Amino acid sequence: MRPSLTAATRRPTRQIMVGNVPVGGGAPVTVQSMTTTKTADVDATLAQIYALAAAGADIVRCTCNEAEAAEGLARIVPRSPVPLVADVHFHHEMALAALEAGVACLRLNPGNLRKPEEIRLVASEARDRGVPIRIGVNAGSLHPDLYKKHGGATPEALVESALMELDYFRQVDFEDVKISVKASHVPLMVEAYRMLADAVEHPLHLGVTEAGPPPAGLIKGTAGIATLLNEGIGDTIRYSLTADPVEEARAGRQLLEALGLRERKGLDLIACPSCGRAEIDVIGVAKAAQEALEEKNLPIQVAVMGCVVNGPGEAREADIGIAAGRHKGHLFIKGKIVRVVPEDDMVAALVEEAEKLVAEGIEARLAAADASAESEAESDRLALLEAKGDDVNHSEARVELIRKTTHHVVDG
Ligand code: SF4
Repeated sequence: MRPSLTAATRRPTRQIMVGNVPVGGGAPVTVQSMTTTKTADVDATLAQIYALAAAGADIVRCTCNEAEAAEGLARIVPRSPVPLVADVHFHHEMALAALEAGVACLRLNPGNLRKPEEIRLVASEARDRGVPIRIGVNAGSLHPDLYKKHGGATPEALVESALMELDYFRQVDFEDVKISVKASHVPLMVEAYRMLADAVEHPLHLGVTEAGPPPAGLIKGTAGIATLLNEGIGDTIRYSLTADPVEEARAGRQLLEALGLRERKGLDLIACPSCGRAEIDVIGVAKAAQEALEEKNLPIQVAVMGCVVNGPGEAREADIGIAAGRHKGHLFIKGKIVRVVPEDDMVAALVEEAEKLVAEGIEARLAAADASAESEAESDRLALLEAKGDDVNHSEARVELIRKTTHHVVDG
């Protein structure tokens, strides 16, 4: 039985090196994505790889489906900021060509590349060059024999496909492997990975394949990947979205940061959902703040709260935040009000203070707080409470009405 693990305690695995990036064996969980350009188009592919790396991808995969793609890889590999994986499906020659191009890893699909002698040949070439391989099983392209044997793409069938491939590799003494068993159906994918985690000690590459466009694709991907990461399973991840792959890389990075598996690299904006108390258009202000702050790429958590009654308290864990008062914004650091600014200046003041916070640190900015900010904020808060009352959503009035409507109903 699997030990009970959590996101923080990872399942122990052997470690492989994808170029200079360790995968498994206690290494940080990594983010992957895949280019959508023709690999033969060297400039376009490199531009996308750079964009993916900037968005958080640690490893990028490119298709190697034809000779021109392999030639493109030979030119791309030396200029890539991250290690590259060549995606190979039907032709083992493409795997050999990708190795010649100098890629850091191969991905083979056992459902599409089926001849044992070809698989062994690729594995021994990879072994001799010290290049790892991902066994990339996919429910949609499962080996037909296994599909028949199991009566469909079941978790058992996906795992058996991976183990069969691993067996071919072992026949040539090659174990430098990571494995994926992806499906577009989340419960199937989760179950397959759990079974696989019990069966092998190799690092696992997680993904919900063909998840579709966001937001549904993001939700499916997160449901599958986060469930497994929270069980300690998974060493590298990829969102498969029908979208700009930069969104995949960004989502992967954000998920790992949200689970505490990677350090925050960029902005984390939290915002209240807004309610009857809100004194501003929370959605609009949050969007404006996000755009302005993302440009600065500050590695902090920022809160945008719709009112001063609950805002600063509810967001006291945020590094910095703004809460809307009557035509004013209360700027706070770790829940302590440091400045009160006019409503129109809220976003600009937030950005300015956020930059100072990153440059000078929390203690210094708390020490530089306006002396009168706390008391001004408190009188704003009381005025707002007075004006809107505690029962801003009219709950008590509704309760009274319900009582009047139901007073004659006797239980039983
Ligand atoms: S912070 Fe204020 S406006 Fe936002 S949800 Fe809470 S009570 Fe409502």
